[in-house]
Amino acid sequence: TKFSDLKLDPKVLKAIVEAGYDNPTPIQAGAIPPALEGRDVLGIAQTGTGKTASFTLPMITLLGRGRARARMPRSLVLCPTRELAAQVAENFDIYAKHTKLTKALLIGGVSFAEQDKLIDRGVDVLIATPGRLLDHFERGKLLLTGVQIMVVDEADRMLDMGFIPDIERIFQLTPFTRQTLFFSATMAPEIERITNTFLHTPERIEV
Ligand code: AMP
Repeated sequence: TKFSDLKLDPKVLKAIVEAGYDNPTPIQAGAIPPALEGRDVLGIAQTGTGKTASFTLPMITLLGRGRARARMPRSLVLCPTRELAAQVAENFDIYAKHTKLTKALLIGGVSFAEQDKLIDRGVDVLIATPGRLLDHFERGKLLLTGVQIMVVDEADRMLDMGFIPDIERIFQLTPFTRQTLFFSATMAPEIERITNTFLHTPERIEV
């Protein structure tokens, strides 16, 4: 498979070429086509396999096809740690650099004021840790009813850190019709249960 076979937005392809990527990794070749068809994806992959691009590239492409909804985030990426969320945000900036899509990074350890400003201005993509996302929600600053694409990254680490109840709650705050791209290095029974509950006949890709 080549990137040019994957029906990605030409603006995304341009950014990938500039980033120096030659070919998609196996998780990218497996996850991107069903994601672009609007299907749910269950990706079983470790860090270092290119899984960040496997959800970010189709997400940017799909958001580019749709119409911006003023002030409503259309995509939500959940990460277990601040560091990981910051990395995903950096990747997003690289891959989305030729688009007009906007993002906010919602992580703890930073004042709410800066993040509030971004949310109020309106962003397409939220990249967040579960605790800080729910803090914003409970402060009445955030509505997730416009979320069309939800990503859960490193679900096994979410489980280790006790975030599964938060993840379930966040799923319930988003529309039932959302598309979910869900990634985990392993499939513990609790992870299997979550995916059975919230994903709609996902395409399962294991690398
Ligand atoms: P990840 O598994 O998402 O943490 O990605 C691991 C590293 O691989 C990151 O530094 C990416 O920039 C890089 N990467 C991702 N996809 C590709 C690709 N198709 N070709 C070359 N490098 C890549």
